[in-house]
Amino acid sequence: MTTIHSAEIISVGTELLLGETVDTNSSFLANELANRGVDVYWSQRVGDNFPRLVAALQAATGRSDLVLLTGGLGPTADDLTREAVAAVMGEEPQVDEGLARDLRSWFAGRGRTMPEGNLKQAWLIGSAVSLPNPLGTAPGWLVTKAGKYIVALPGPPHEMTRMWGEEVVPRLPLPQSRLFRIILKTHGQGESAIAQLLAPFLHSSNPTVATYAKDDGVHVRVAAKAAGAASARQSAEGFARQVEERLGGLVWGRDDAELAGVVIDQLATRNMTLAIADEAGVLGLGEALAAAARGGSVLRGAVVAWSPNTAAALGLPPPSTRPALATEYGTQVAKAVQQALAASLGASLVWTNAGTGRSDAANDEMLFTVTQAGKASSVRIGGGGTRGVAGRVKLRNEALHHLRSSVMAGDV
Ligand code: ATP
Ligand code: MG
Repeated sequence: MTTIHSAEIISVGTELLLGETVDTNSSFLANELANRGVDVYWSQRVGDNFPRLVAALQAATGRSDLVLLTGGLGPTADDLTREAVAAVMGEEPQVDEGLARDLRSWFAGRGRTMPEGNLKQAWLIGSAVSLPNPLGTAPGWLVTKAGKYIVALPGPPHEMTRMWGEEVVPRLPLPQSRLFRIILKTHGQGESAIAQLLAPFLHSSNPTVATYAKDDGVHVRVAAKAAGAASARQSAEGFARQVEERLGGLVWGRDDAELAGVVIDQLATRNMTLAIADEAGVLGLGEALAAAARGGSVLRGAVVAWSPNTAAALGLPPPSTRPALATEYGTQVAKAVQQALAASLGASLVWTNAGTGRSDAANDEMLFTVTQAGKASSVRIGGGGTRGVAGRVKLRNEALHHLRSSVMAGDV
């Protein structure tokens, strides 16, 4: 068997083209292929349409060693993946008696009779072997012909990922080489400034270095390819050390690190505790910190919204005495919650103009304040009008970056 060097992914389903379903299958497979040293130069998304699916497959088989399809293996008339693969191979599907028996007993085991439409899930063509799917009714196909491979996987992600790992990987002549990736997460400089800083590294072809603007800062990816997993890792680590040195203090995390988790860890290593009062609620700031703290004692508590009674019980300034100046109110609230929950650090997120009835874009502006050792520092957040989920995550990260630098500033 000749080693597979190139692969192409085709995600099948009209719902993918309508934007109703996010195509997570192709990102999973693209990741897997990259890690295993297989080059992916194309990835297609095509609807439940026979001629277009055939055209996509023809293009893919013409230029790639391996074609991975996901979706369209169901029993209904708009599930056309088997039909299209058979047509491209020029073969006629036949019902495989063994597979048909398995299908019937799958239904019988659930006290149901198999609808005749499901019989096409027992189809095979001469150049295909069937891939078992214990998690659903649709078996996959592995087609081999003249050094090329076509693999048809089910659409539901949990069925697809199992079939890929358990049934497909062991059957394919994948390269022995491996790619190892390290993500360095930075904050404080824009993408072009980072790229300029890293100019001496950006020409390297192995390891490679690339920058990406994300909602928590600019990510720098170092990726190394080598004959085996250990040497790929070693090469990436070595390069990442040089890159990180060059980036100086801009790096705040690596790989899967998330800001809230990094802040909690920083507090924990300094034996510090945090209490937060979040009047706005919209950024999920308290929730993010609570999720990262996973119990434990670092996060003393997160108060989200309060009535006059709650304010009195917690010693927060009563809403009737709210000062006009947001910075003043934010500091009062942060200090009060810090004291009420006996934390070393207090934080507050308040509306800058609550109760003023203003309805302009500035009306969604918030103020994030951190207090420690009698000092307070605030940062304005938002104010640009309505935002989607992604916008709110970005704003939450701004608050967390401020919190992180406040914790670090406490060091000096
Ligand atoms: P079934 O037997 O469930 O019909 P199928 O192989 O025909 O399986 P589809 O009908 O194409 O698969 O998709 C089933 C479901 O799997 C979709 O409704 C969607 O939730 C999910 N799905 C399909 N393709 C993708 C994809 N590319 N990324 C993420 N999810 C997907
Ligand atoms: Mg289907």
